[in-house]
Amino acid sequence: MRGFDVVVVGGGPSGEEAAARLGARGLEVAIVEDRLIGGECAYWACMPSKALLRPYEALAEARRLPGAREAVTGELDVPALLRGRDEVIDHFDDSEPRSFLESRGVALLRGRGRLVGERRVTVGDEKIEARRAVVLAGGSLPLFPPIEGLDAVEGAWTNRDATTADEIPERLVILGGGPVGVEMAQAFQTFGSHVTLIEGERRLLPREEEFACAQVTTALEGYGVDIRTGAKAESLSQIGGTMTVTTTDGDTAEGDVLLVALGRRAPTDDLGVESVGLTPGDFIEVDAQMRVPGTPWLYAIGDINGRTQQTHMGKYQGRLAADHILGRDNAVSHGADGTLAPRVIFTDPQIVAVGHTTDTARSAGAQFDVYDTELSSTLAAAFYSPGAPGTARFLVDRERRTLIGCTITGSEIADFLHAASIAVVGELPLERLRHAVPPFPTRSEIWLALLEQAGV
Ligand SMILES: Cc1cc2nc3c(=O)[nH]c(=O)nc-3n(C[C@H](O)[C@H](O)[C@H](O)COP(=O)(O)OP(=O)(O)OC[C@H]3O[C@@H](n4cnc5c(N)ncnc54)[C@H](O)[C@@H]3O)c2cc1C
Repeated sequence: MRGFDVVVVGGGPSGEEAAARLGARGLEVAIVEDRLIGGECAYWACMPSKALLRPYEALAEARRLPGAREAVTGELDVPALLRGRDEVIDHFDDSEPRSFLESRGVALLRGRGRLVGERRVTVGDEKIEARRAVVLAGGSLPLFPPIEGLDAVEGAWTNRDATTADEIPERLVILGGGPVGVEMAQAFQTFGSHVTLIEGERRLLPREEEFACAQVTTALEGYGVDIRTGAKAESLSQIGGTMTVTTTDGDTAEGDVLLVALGRRAPTDDLGVESVGLTPGDFIEVDAQMRVPGTPWLYAIGDINGRTQQTHMGKYQGRLAADHILGRDNAVSHGADGTLAPRVIFTDPQIVAVGHTTDTARSAGAQFDVYDTELSSTLAAAFYSPGAPGTARFLVDRERRTLIGCTITGSEIADFLHAASIAVVGELPLERLRHAVPPFPTRSEIWLALLEQAGV
């Protein structure tokens, strides 16, 4: 039987991060991957979806600026954009991340990994021993809830088909108004599809601040997306090339293609988790060190533990797990790698958020003050996204005078978020934050507006 110090099952960003960190620090590590190193994120999720969205965002920004606006003489070149997307996903070639892992001394085992008991994994017929730890990093799979007729729809799209599409459907119906649904709605509508977006909750993006959702909803409607909220898809039928969705309020929507963006499920049906007492089909619960409770040699990182489904948090968990395996005592989650984790929705306007929203802070019983400011109140708004919507909301703990949550909307603001994450995670008092001076003229001067309103 071959043996390694650590066997990582799943070569997405979380598994890669853990394996590379362990390999670089001298451990003998194997990573098991049955598709491509880079995982869902690199080829079918984060990277291609951003490649689909960014050109329109750049075009929209150019159109807002006198001088640049006049130079924009055409529309999006969709075939060129799709070729650009193919470059971003390296034409499904994973040789670069493979070389990176090799450079860290990590062995790649191609095939499907299964747990077969304590510190034992099989890859195909081969039995592998993990002397110190097994790290499960198998990601997540698209969820198909039990909607009448859904199973029978031929060629229904998941994120994989949407992000790697080469043809733009004339009519696209999207089920699910979460981050994937709204991002794909914007992308395909701006490529020329007629998009109908169906969300069962009262509003799109129900986990984010209501004002942020309202701004994205208005923007999507402005692009021409037909948004239906407050009624769930109840049944589907397909006649010829036309697919019809009927919602619980009796309304119908027709399309040529259906995209199912209704959440994710755990990929644990066929992972052998029952051999260590876990339930197949469930997300794998972990403690603050990313260990499976009661099974100290087993870790689960990234989407598979169900805490948050974002690449940066999976990679963070990968670093924590690796450091814990390496014996570092401080490898403990800060506690904010669940729903309070930093998050970005890459529509135009974007939504970025970290920590609490007003709703979650209330539910948590926090005593806090809310400070809102418009990005347009900064002088930089004359040059950056003039006339475009943008709002910052800061939630400040009343007693400690620290930031417990921040949501910002606006065009091209994803990079703003990290300042807020530092303030939230660092629990920096406003009195201290006053000395972090935002440069002029930038939209970061929203921080000055916060301090002013909070009386600092
Ligand atoms: C459309 C879309 C857009 C997104 N955009 C963003 C974004 O902009 N930013 C962001 O942070 N997040 C985004 N996400 C979420 C992000 O893709 C995931 O959180 C991230 O991919 C999780 O990484 P992971 O390593 O846990 O799993 P994955 O990336 O899913 O990788 C898991 C890997 O494990 C392999 N595997 C699974 N089981 C086995 C097995 N038994 N044996 C061998 N190999 C196995 C799989 O083949 C896969 O390659 C997006 C998701 C979607 C669907």
